Amino acid sequence: MDIVKGNMGWIEVVCGPMFSGKSEELIRRLRRAQIARQRVQIFKPTLDQRYSNAEIVSHSEARIPADIVSRTSEILDKLDPRTEVVGIDEAQFLSGDLVSVAQKLADMGKRVIVAGLDTDFLGRPFEPVPQLMTVAEEVTKLLAICVRCGNPAKHTQRLTTSEELIVVGARGTYEARCRRCFEPVAPQPTLFEKQKTAEKQKTKA
Ligand code: ADP
Ligand code: ZN
Repeated sequence: MDIVKGNMGWIEVVCGPMFSGKSEELIRRLRRAQIARQRVQIFKPTLDQRYSNAEIVSHSEARIPADIVSRTSEILDKLDPRTEVVGIDEAQFLSGDLVSVAQKLADMGKRVIVAGLDTDFLGRPFEPVPQLMTVAEEVTKLLAICVRCGNPAKHTQRLTTSEELIVVGARGTYEARCRRCFEPVAPQPTLFEKQKTAEKQKTKA
């Protein structure tokens, strides 16, 4: 953002696939605000417990302390009125209320920085990030590197057979892929998985 006068708030969205550097970029922006002695509050949803509970940790091990919220409205409950900058990571795990919460914060004069996935494992828009993009003043779309061919990657490739929208990523569950290498259909189950499913069905019958 260039010239901002008075205590006007605004919304910045940092989106892209997994491994594109969203958390790193969020941490970088929040650190700079802290260096400028601004009051910063950082939130992340409970669902993502990949690395640490009370921190945002990037894949490159950059970290910053964060408050955990189980519902979007908790952001407002936990808000210190003196806070000038609000950072939110993993927005795709928060409900659609995040759009009105972010708007409210920006209307109160706060700089809101939201990071999250813009597409899901099938390449579809992953709410609420697309809606946040439309109400934001600034949108940064980051790309990862395709692990197959080295091209810029906009997709999060799921490597397991689950068709659930949310499968929280353990190592090896997801990788970054470009549009050419992306395989939007869930991979076929392995022989072992097929046997397990067959066994389960037998015990049910
Ligand atoms: P995101 O929050 O978008 O998942 P992170 O900020 O946690 O991304 O991690 C970005 C870091 O991940 C990069 O700086 C790099 O060190 C590492 N990384 C691992 N795999 C890849 C990849 N395929 N493409 C780009 N960066 C990768
Ligand atoms: Zn590729």
